[in-house]
Amino acid sequence: MPNPRFDVCVVGSGPGGGIAAYVLAAAGLKVALIEMGRRLRPGADYNAHADPYDSLDRRLSQGKPGAISSVWNDYSERDHFTGVGDNPRHGQLRALGGRSLCWAGHCLRFGPLDYTRWPISYADVAPYYDKAERFMQVHGMKDGLSNLPDGVFEKAVPMRCPERMLKLGVERLKQKGRKMEFVAQRKAIPTESRPGGRTVCHYCGHCMRGCDVDSKYTSANTPIPKALATGNLKLFAETAMTRVRMAKDGSRVEGIVCAASDGAVFEIDCRALVLACSTIETARQLLIAGIANSSGTVGKYLTSHFGVTVAGLFPGLKNRDASNDDGTDYYHSLLTGLYWDKPNPNFEGTYQVQSGAGLHPTKLFIKDAPGWGSSFKRALKELNTIHASMNMQGSLLISSRKFVDLDPAAKDRYGLPLPRIHLHYEDSDLAMARDMVATCEEVILAAGGEVYSKPRDISREGLVIDGNHWVGTCRMGRDKKTSVVNTDGQSHDVRNLFICDASVFAAYPEKNPTLTNVALSWRTAERLATKLRRREV
Ligand SMILES: Cc1cc2nc3c(=O)[nH]c(=O)nc-3n(C[C@H](O)[C@H](O)[C@H](O)COP(=O)(O)OP(=O)(O)OC[C@H]3O[C@@H](n4cnc5c(N)ncnc54)[C@H](O)[C@@H]3O)c2cc1C
Ligand code: SF4
Repeated sequence: MPNPRFDVCVVGSGPGGGIAAYVLAAAGLKVALIEMGRRLRPGADYNAHADPYDSLDRRLSQGKPGAISSVWNDYSERDHFTGVGDNPRHGQLRALGGRSLCWAGHCLRFGPLDYTRWPISYADVAPYYDKAERFMQVHGMKDGLSNLPDGVFEKAVPMRCPERMLKLGVERLKQKGRKMEFVAQRKAIPTESRPGGRTVCHYCGHCMRGCDVDSKYTSANTPIPKALATGNLKLFAETAMTRVRMAKDGSRVEGIVCAASDGAVFEIDCRALVLACSTIETARQLLIAGIANSSGTVGKYLTSHFGVTVAGLFPGLKNRDASNDDGTDYYHSLLTGLYWDKPNPNFEGTYQVQSGAGLHPTKLFIKDAPGWGSSFKRALKELNTIHASMNMQGSLLISSRKFVDLDPAAKDRYGLPLPRIHLHYEDSDLAMARDMVATCEEVILAAGGEVYSKPRDISREGLVIDGNHWVGTCRMGRDKKTSVVNTDGQSHDVRNLFICDASVFAAYPEKNPTLTNVALSWRTAERLATKLRRREV
């Protein structure tokens, strides 16, 4: 029997692959979406609203460790990479929708200055940010900042009370000439009812545990159902791509080899292949296949965000009511605008600080509350009522000691080499973290608060890498000697291979990656559709 044949195979159904499948299917192309994981049902396979006592028996019978937890804790993978150096981490959720099931939804456009080291400009991506924000239903405030452009927003969610104290501190420092801004977060969570839109958020605050009512944008609840509705998408869930099949002369992808969870192995032919397996995994697939790497840069230019946390208390808020201002997940606000125009002489790049507060059931202050019985409850409530915490997201310096390659020994269940992630912090990274601690202390004190906790000292061991924000292993560029894909997201070497995840980022600012990942994937998918129509690939 001949292999099934599609115009495009998209591998990976996270934010990058989901949007590519939608745009291609909506353009009338026959698309196969290959996803290793299974469909997880909101409210059934994860259920943050369940009563822990009701869910315990069922969960224990399913082999789960305890009562309700989170999508991430229950389903993310462990031991799927080898870490080398300063304690790297790597997030992976094998499920339809990938890590969009557990993301917080923070959506920040990269600004004009952030694109100066890219081969494309902010103006090239701006129309796709517009489309992405409308499609994802992003809420936010129009702040008018130079390098964090406003977008197409639904009604903003206000900051919580202690976050307003941080804003007060920032305003006072700005009056003394400091360059910084404090704004409300922007998230892909609907706050307005819209025909055909998702359920409006009811502010339960469980976004990262998994949204039971499918309000938060995921790849599984928006682009994939819309793509299926076109009749042009065939979904192969619980199916892994295990090999890229190349033409004999190595110039073109002919198709892929797949392994289904029931053990069946089969092939799919395609006119074009889109890889959207995520930054680490896409690089790994190219290294395994030995393709698209005439530049030798696949796996190089790896970067992410890293940081430390500082918390403050505002005694002036002690007697306020413990009001129900849970809102969306913990972080409602953002310290930003640092070192945009004038770089800090001690480090390269900059950082932002996501800030949160409130009665959200975080572990943050529970362990520190003194007392027993009712006095413990009072102390716990008070600490949660008067605290704000500030978590740094610094852009990690790109250096030759940060990269991905293949582990010569460790293999996955298909016998394929696992990735190794090499992370070594440089002095610039340490200097940035020190500056962040000093700046956050300044903000808290300027607002009349006191610093409640901060890292004792800044050391390589104390820095925390964001294992979910990796970018840059297959970077975009005009020169095929120094980059992997061109400005259309198309491999320089293999004309019918395209990449639709954050591995193509040419440089990385302090802002979260996913909105830009979706905008660029949208752009790449549109360009691929045009090239296929014109028979250019
Ligand atoms: C707790 C948490 C909070 C986060 N919050 C934010 C946030 O607020 N803002 C933000 O911008 N980002 C956030 N992120 C990061 C964001 O989730 C990722 O940047 C994003 O999901 C990456 O998208 P992707 O499509 O590249 O990869 P993924 O989402 O990882 O999707 C890749 C998919 O490919 C599949 N796959 C891989 N290899 C194969 C193969 N060989 N065959 C078949 N399928 C394969 C995987 O199973 C997976 O489903 C957060 C992440 C986490 C975990
Ligand atoms: S706060 Fe809103 S988006 Fe987050 S889990 Fe609850 S309903 Fe979903």
